[in-house]
Amino acid sequence: MRKADYLIIGQGIAGTMLSWFLLQAGKKVIVIDDAKSNSASRVAAGIINPVSGRRFEPAWMYDTIYPFAKTTYLQLSALLQVPVFTERQLWTVFPSSQMRDAFLNKATGNEYTELPTTLKYEAFLDQPHGAAIVRGATVNLRALLPAYRRYLAEQNALLEEHFDSAALEITATGVTYKTISAGKVICCDGVATTSGPFFKNVKFLPNKGEVLLVRIPGLVTNDILKKGITLVPQEDGLYWAGSSFVWDYTDDGPTAKQREILEKSLQQLLKVPYEVVNQLSAVRPSGNDRRPIIGFHPEYPAIGIFNGLGTKGCSLAPFMAAHFKEVLVANTPLMQEVDLHRYF
Ligand SMILES: Cc1cc2nc3c(=O)[nH]c(=O)nc-3n(C[C@H](O)[C@H](O)[C@H](O)COP(=O)(O)OP(=O)(O)OC[C@H]3O[C@@H](n4cnc5c(N)ncnc54)[C@H](O)[C@@H]3O)c2cc1C
Repeated sequence: MRKADYLIIGQGIAGTMLSWFLLQAGKKVIVIDDAKSNSASRVAAGIINPVSGRRFEPAWMYDTIYPFAKTTYLQLSALLQVPVFTERQLWTVFPSSQMRDAFLNKATGNEYTELPTTLKYEAFLDQPHGAAIVRGATVNLRALLPAYRRYLAEQNALLEEHFDSAALEITATGVTYKTISAGKVICCDGVATTSGPFFKNVKFLPNKGEVLLVRIPGLVTNDILKKGITLVPQEDGLYWAGSSFVWDYTDDGPTAKQREILEKSLQQLLKVPYEVVNQLSAVRPSGNDRRPIIGFHPEYPAIGIFNGLGTKGCSLAPFMAAHFKEVLVANTPLMQEVDLHRYF
């Protein structure tokens, strides 16, 4: 039998961060991942946005989670020798004069936002009401996830296969899975948890997002451009253009309907032609209260969960994974707002 302290199911941003902090704490970890090509982390743009909504409300716990996330991503970038983290301005086009006036009268906005001194992108964007600048960042998940996967393989901590919950057995000391014996198993399998056998009590509210990858001849920027739809520059010169929110969906694949909606939003933002190169889609793993879901099953204490990262996986995952690690190795109390037991 191969032995581990923790068996982690999934290597999206949740499983990546949790396994990283547990390995740092000297724990023996095995991560099982089936490399689903349209997992949320593989499709996401990796935006870290300090504000949300029309009022530019600061995101939950942002002052705590952002510096922690930045430090963590920079450490991983140095270790893995890949570019992981980029601070960026989000050029946020006002949809109406009322929005601009509210911003000018300081009814909206905060320390993460400012008004630009000159209007940029005039040749490219339709922005009759001007724009605000929001200071955010992006996480390059398409570089981080495969590089960290290679790191796990080098540590002999990766199993590249589909986890079959029917093969999991609960024992007196933890769990066994095929040839692995572990103290605990922790589900970081994103939306797959919602159809698994252990967390039926949790009120998940998964929602599907669709994205276009587009070429915009002549547009060269490091900024994120935003107005209804969000354009995020990619390393290959394309732009990630997304994303939709759909709660009522039949499968997780791309649809003609969402392509039409995304293209309409693109046409409202861009004054110039563009070319659609690809369309992607994935389902965001969210709980009904939009807070992370962390902890162990009250009836099966060897079975845990780290999920519910919703639309904010990149900003939340580092801090929440480190917090969960502290709960596990130092027995510190779990924050009530993220405790799985709120569902039981
Ligand atoms: C279109 C879209 C855009 C987004 N944009 C952003 C953004 O800009 N910024 C941001 O912070 N967040 C964004 N998000 C949200 C973000 O993607 C999620 O919060 C985050 O990726 C969730 O990570 P996770 O690790 O919990 O789940 P996932 O990323 O879904 O990872 C689950 C992993 O488990 C594996 N897995 C599942 N079942 C099994 C099994 N049985 N056996 C083995 N492996 C298994 C999968 O292959 C996958 O690797 C976006 C999401 C979508 C869909």
